[in-house]
Amino acid sequence: MTSRIYYTDPYCRRFEASVIKTLVHDGRPAALLDRTAFYPTSGGQPFDMGKFFEADRVDGERRGPFGSAIDVLETIDLDDDVVHVLSAAVIEGASVRGEIDWTRRFDHMQQHTGQHILSAAFDRLYENRTVSFHMGSDVSSIDLQREASWEHIARAEGEANRIVSENCEVAIRFVTSEHAAALPLRKDPAREGTLRLIEVKDFDLSACGGTHVSRTGAIGSLVVTAAEKFKGGTRVTFACGSRAIRAFQSLRDAVAGSVRLLSVLPRELPAAIERMQAETKDLRRTLRRFQEALASHEAARLIGASEIGSGAALIIVEALDGWDTTGLKTIATHIAAQANAVVALFSTESSYPVVIARSPGMSVDATAVVNELRTRFGGRGGGKADLAQGGGFGGNLSEILRVTRQLLANGPLSLS
Ligand SMILES: [Zn+2]
Repeated sequence: MTSRIYYTDPYCRRFEASVIKTLVHDGRPAALLDRTAFYPTSGGQPFDMGKFFEADRVDGERRGPFGSAIDVLETIDLDDDVVHVLSAAVIEGASVRGEIDWTRRFDHMQQHTGQHILSAAFDRLYENRTVSFHMGSDVSSIDLQREASWEHIARAEGEANRIVSENCEVAIRFVTSEHAAALPLRKDPAREGTLRLIEVKDFDLSACGGTHVSRTGAIGSLVVTAAEKFKGGTRVTFACGSRAIRAFQSLRDAVAGSVRLLSVLPRELPAAIERMQAETKDLRRTLRRFQEALASHEAARLIGASEIGSGAALIIVEALDGWDTTGLKTIATHIAAQANAVVALFSTESSYPVVIARSPGMSVDATAVVNELRTRFGGRGGGKADLAQGGGFGGNLSEILRVTRQLLANGPLSLS
């Protein structure tokens, strides 16, 4: 059973201990110590990382100085023990000095204490309980039992920051579960025996095995960065300390970029975006109308240019500038409807997207033509016998047009 230094001294970042057992965890060397300040993943808080320095041993006892660093890659809670996963093996019975990556740990302490306070604020103001807590690498989140409005979220955020700025003491104490039953705990502790309680003076009392700052002022500030409906309640995402500053900086950069582009004040952004969306919708509608008219015009021109005599079927193979696939499709179907024709229209854009259409009286299989083009020039495509499209062709355009003409005029694909 590992003695956990962080239970009573969460600010301990350097300690000495003995290796009581060595093992292999998932193929990596690992060690159990008689005591540790390394926190293993538990209760929503991620594990500590850091370094071990192993001491030289003479006659089974530490004599010499501590040696070079071995990385502690992960810390895992395993029954009553704490497993340290290492970059290199240590020797059973050896002495080690452990050093915690304090930047990582202190950040976790800020987020975790912030969580206690934010959860307590929702609980005290709205009796909205926290059902789970997750600490991520950028932001953390709590899941509230019930839905919370933005007004409630803003008030709880304000209340949490009042507790932060009052720099309240955060105390650790140990009680029996019988004793705890008589205390006003925010949440019923699930475990029996000795309980570790975290008390934010005059604000919150809850059972927790994690690491916390000793006064609320060390949290710096707490900001809610997002909220969404989740499992009938609300997931509230938040950040404390330097994470809160980073969240603000990232928002500031995004807003500054947007207001520069739109020439509006930050508070005018939503209205400006709404206006732009409405304008875009109008423009798109107008553009579709013009494209339709132009396509009809282009279809008439192509029919006129290829008239070869009455009654005969038209074969139209052209490459057009400035049309997307939708436009090509509109022109091709216009032609197929207005003349007895089979038509293949390519765009001159790179990879030459094509639309192939035929009039109801024709027996050319448009999909078979596209497939034949794919066989010869690569690319993709598909569709139906009377309308197909393709693209992504390699090779040169005049060669592709020549082959297409041949396929439509003489190939086994055509019966006309
Ligand atoms: Zn906690």
